[in-house]
Amino acid sequence: MDWSPIKKNPSSWRIQPNLIDYHKACADFSWDDVQNELDGLPDGRGLNIAYEAVDRHVKNGEGEKTALRWLGKGGQIKNFTYADLEEQTNRFANVLRLLKIGKGERVFSLSGRIPELYFAILGTLKNTSVFCPLFSAFGPEPIAQRLERGDARVLVTSERLYRKKVAKLRSSLPQLEYVLLTDSDADQADNVLSLPRLLADASPTFTIPPTDPEDMALLHFTSGTTGKPKGAVHVHNAVLTHYLTGKYVLDLHPEDIFWCTADCGWVTGTSYGIIAPLVHGVTNLVDEADFEAERWCRTLAEQQVNVWYTAPTAIRMLMRSGLKPHEKFDLSQLRLVHSVGEPLNPEAVIWGEEALGLPIHDNWWQTETGGIMIANYAAMEIRPGSMGRPLPGIEAAIVHQIAEGKVELEEQADCEGELALKVGWPSMFRGYLHDDERYRKCFVDDWYITGDLAQRDADGYFWFIGRADDIIKTSGHMVGPFEVESALMEHPAVAEVGVIGKPEPMIGELVKAFVALQSGFEPSEPLKLELLGFARKKLGSAVAPKEIEFTDNLPKTRSGKIMRRLLKARELGLPEGDTSTLED
Ligand code: AMP
Repeated sequence: MDWSPIKKNPSSWRIQPNLIDYHKACADFSWDDVQNELDGLPDGRGLNIAYEAVDRHVKNGEGEKTALRWLGKGGQIKNFTYADLEEQTNRFANVLRLLKIGKGERVFSLSGRIPELYFAILGTLKNTSVFCPLFSAFGPEPIAQRLERGDARVLVTSERLYRKKVAKLRSSLPQLEYVLLTDSDADQADNVLSLPRLLADASPTFTIPPTDPEDMALLHFTSGTTGKPKGAVHVHNAVLTHYLTGKYVLDLHPEDIFWCTADCGWVTGTSYGIIAPLVHGVTNLVDEADFEAERWCRTLAEQQVNVWYTAPTAIRMLMRSGLKPHEKFDLSQLRLVHSVGEPLNPEAVIWGEEALGLPIHDNWWQTETGGIMIANYAAMEIRPGSMGRPLPGIEAAIVHQIAEGKVELEEQADCEGELALKVGWPSMFRGYLHDDERYRKCFVDDWYITGDLAQRDADGYFWFIGRADDIIKTSGHMVGPFEVESALMEHPAVAEVGVIGKPEPMIGELVKAFVALQSGFEPSEPLKLELLGFARKKLGSAVAPKEIEFTDNLPKTRSGKIMRRLLKARELGLPEGDTSTLED
């Protein structure tokens, strides 16, 4: 297969790309110029994400344009114009006001991709409260931890998810005052209320209160290698990055139909499934259903999607399906395909050219960065296997070493080190909620240390190597090994456990647990199945291990910490590296 760089000639592009002269854009860059392209709240009252995403389009005469096109699981389609969205988000903001939920207070969701979720997110931002989306495939334990750690006061969810995953936790979450059910026509208790009823009764007008760009807007949980999940705090000013990346990376133009396949339970689904496209005033497609190869290809064709943002796992599943979308469907409207979340294999980039008629552009970012930081841009040469170049306005570097509170940057090309970003971009996380110490540790000498290992080539393209820690990436989602270990430890048969990410071609890594049993328990197939089921019930399918191996030999440091790195090396048959701290 030919993996040589894919040359892209802007003059053959159907629509002039927003970013052609990369070096000029970098040299002339100023965040003030980006801010000037947004409106800000009327009368200089600040900057609010929801105003930029919704109300300003109505004010600027675009109220009748379709903002959201929702495709239901059962084939139904609902269109919401920008004016509809303004009204529904105003109603949701008024519901919060009625319930006395104020500025900075946390509203959570646990929901599939339904229109009410989008009203809730944007309505919460209008009310200057803080939104925190949870993935609906989480089990009760990750849900409880996040609701508690995030000081949730309101939860927006469905009757089924509430009954199955939350109702039993209520007594341990005293600060959770209201549950708003998206699919119940009547209130079920004083504090379990019908969202449709509340929305219908609420006023359709709302004046967004003054919003400081540094006011907290979103909370996104991510996993660490130790301890509880970390709540990354984002502010309204992040909209500058969302806008800029929508323009330069996703190359959004006002007439575009855009589809981001990520779920709102993850940061991509919020930054790019809602904010960036709406800020650009495009039509944003939302599909309630999960991945299904034929349905996705049909959707691209029938909905005439122009720009598609998806993930490597989905692309690999499409590749495996054997479908040749380009031959079977009319994809002539598709102009640009981007992917994020895990390494995109060079084969997938090339497959895109053959099967979709377009190569796939990789880009890189994290929950903590709030928006895309490194990308292969529309009009530029793609280097298959590379994440691309830093966004204009972003300084990225490879750290050679960190010593005495200083970073030494790698000047040479093609050398491996930790990927770091110079602090100060608008969507940079402003803290881990209730964990200042952990936040401070992410920064050295004005650089944010990302935890990823990478290389930069002589032309400034970055190449992903791997994580510098034990965090697992499975189907594009971060899983903290500690969270999985803690859940398994609660089973009476388990004495010790170490969890790793085992490479798997389709989903990147699968969660694998090595379990040492308590005396009196013998390894057996039924016990393995019981443990798998036990973990799944607690953690949910998104986090639970897929494989368990019994062992009575978990490698540990002299201080008693299980060495996951060694477990992984053994699993892969690789050299064990430095074992000097291994216990005798
Ligand atoms: P999350 O915070 O869940 O969005 O995960 C961020 C992590 O996903 C990064 O630190 C990387 O390890 C990985 N990641 C994201 N995008 C890419 C990419 N394009 N190539 C390789 N890894 C990626």
